[in-house]
Amino acid sequence: MKVFKFGGASASSVERIRQIPAILRPYQGQRLLVVISAMGKTTNALEKVAEAFYNGHHDEALHLFSQIKTSHLTTAKYLLIQNYLAAEAQLRDFFTEVEWLLHDKPVREYDYYYDQIVCIGELLSTSIVSAFLAESGIGNQWIDVRDIFRTDANFRDAAIDMPYTARKVREEVLPLFDQESMVVTQGFIGATPDNESTTLGREGSDYTAAVFANLLDAEGQTIWKDVQGVMNADPKQFPDAKVIRELNYDEVIEMAYYGAQVIHPNTIKPLQNKGIPLYVKCFLDTSLPGTVIHNQAVKGLPPIIVLKQEQVLVQLHSKDFSFVGESGTMRLYDLFGQVRVKPNLMQSGAVSLQVCLDDRPAKIEKLALAASELFEVQIERSLTLLTIRHYDAEVLARLTAGRQEVLRQQTQQTVQVLMR
Ligand code: ASP
Ligand code: MG
Repeated sequence: MKVFKFGGASASSVERIRQIPAILRPYQGQRLLVVISAMGKTTNALEKVAEAFYNGHHDEALHLFSQIKTSHLTTAKYLLIQNYLAAEAQLRDFFTEVEWLLHDKPVREYDYYYDQIVCIGELLSTSIVSAFLAESGIGNQWIDVRDIFRTDANFRDAAIDMPYTARKVREEVLPLFDQESMVVTQGFIGATPDNESTTLGREGSDYTAAVFANLLDAEGQTIWKDVQGVMNADPKQFPDAKVIRELNYDEVIEMAYYGAQVIHPNTIKPLQNKGIPLYVKCFLDTSLPGTVIHNQAVKGLPPIIVLKQEQVLVQLHSKDFSFVGESGTMRLYDLFGQVRVKPNLMQSGAVSLQVCLDDRPAKIEKLALAASELFEVQIERSLTLLTIRHYDAEVLARLTAGRQEVLRQQTQQTVQVLMR
């Protein structure tokens, strides 16, 4: 058993989807579970629909949604002949699910509506790709992963009910492979016990695939991307970025923690627990070796660079010059939880705390307001956070040259510099 995950870029257009059969053909006859993301930037587009709807911009929401409908119907029309009508009917069922909701007025929390709307992206893409694979002679069964992955009702960041999901995989997914060796399904989404749709957090499809790999005891998971593999920096920011051929799970978790947009950090644990290797391969050129991620130690890694823009520094100073101490820090962490932000860097002194966060203006306002009851609060925006793992003096000097340093944290392995 193998698990494959295709990201949004691999299904972003008719041309891209046309390449998927050639990637899968060599594996025909082997048991393969295939997870496919929403097409291209569909998730972002659906987020806009959810926002418009929730802000009471009813017509705009419907208009934005109609664009998503059209693009999916057009894609299906280009790709499908025999299966077009059946696929269209399936797409229209999902459209209707969303449109019903868009005609109501929001009475529940935003995150609930977000999930009901955004989950449709993967349902649409997988319906189209599954039908196209079938037409290309690659037999497969499509399943709605919401029937399998049960979660809690923590919308937009739902937690998977593992025992229930494991039973469903065993009882309902495994037997499918006796009929057809390939199963096509969605990542990123699930459903509550009340059958409300949920999402697992942006970029959650890798995680879904990893949970499947774990529960199906897969021999490996492959993530097909439009890059050559895991790189030591974002090639858009650093044109000389290199592919890292081999990494271990811990390193990938560290990289993700510091904000490298490689692999959703939750992805690693389910694989690590069963020692399942993770391959990152390029769907544009399948002959490239890509990256393998496993449990063994890997020596001689190059400097791994993560650059995060749009950072905000929140400086907190205790009002009466009393020590911040544990209680101040604890109350602050409490606030992080309430506002749902994660600090990227934090430094504490006797009477002050400095916190670096992604600049989500609404959340930062909320945090600053709540914190102002305990501290004097100062905010600085438009900063850049540089993180280098396995750094050396040369690379550190090069990447900080000409910048003003605001804050630095350094261990033997990792250096972080917040810069103006
Ligand atoms: N489509 C979702 C997203 O863009 C999930 C994923 O692709 O992993 O975040
Ligand atoms: Mg994606």
